[in-house]
Amino acid sequence: MKNDIVQKRQLNSIAVKKYRQSLTKEVKQARDKEQKIKQKIVLALLNKEKVENNQCTFTINCKNPVVGITKKCLKHWSFNFNRTAARSGYSKKEFSKIFINLYKNQNGKCAVTGIKLTPGLDVEVDHIIPLSRKGNNDVSNFRLVAKFVNRLKNNFTDDEFKEHIKNICPNLLEWATKGEINMSDYDMSAG
Ligand SMILES: [Zn+2]
Repeated sequence: MKNDIVQKRQLNSIAVKKYRQSLTKEVKQARDKEQKIKQKIVLALLNKEKVENNQCTFTINCKNPVVGITKKCLKHWSFNFNRTAARSGYSKKEFSKIFINLYKNQNGKCAVTGIKLTPGLDVEVDHIIPLSRKGNNDVSNFRLVAKFVNRLKNNFTDDEFKEHIKNICPNLLEWATKGEINMSDYDMSAG
């Protein structure tokens, strides 16, 4: 039992070391940004007034539970994506339905890495085929991904993105999917 724990710790530190070695400038910058956002969130949480009964504050009548670190339910929080909606040619309400369906179908996880998403922190809408690559605004071309994934993915197609990740940090996606990396546990600024 004790040996098991020692071994796990060793494996863990090897994984972290490997991960750090494979980090390139680009990934580091993305992670640093996320780290800064997380610090902001912690502060925001400390200052956040308690939401009564964990209920959505959008209207008095909405009794739905709040999601993530927002003060709204999933439906009402999804209205925040109204700019994405407008740009994509949908009304706020139409896009809200699309958003909720995506969130439910993906079990609240990033479609690329499988990382659990936190509304209000790291959820972004991604065009599977980027608009700049002749992708469209069809529902089938949308998915939800973690913010850092969207940043790294940029205007790549999925295949190009995977190739890109393979070059800059070969194990990032695999580790992220397996939940082997909890990046918030590590001080990335140390490099
Ligand atoms: Zn609500």
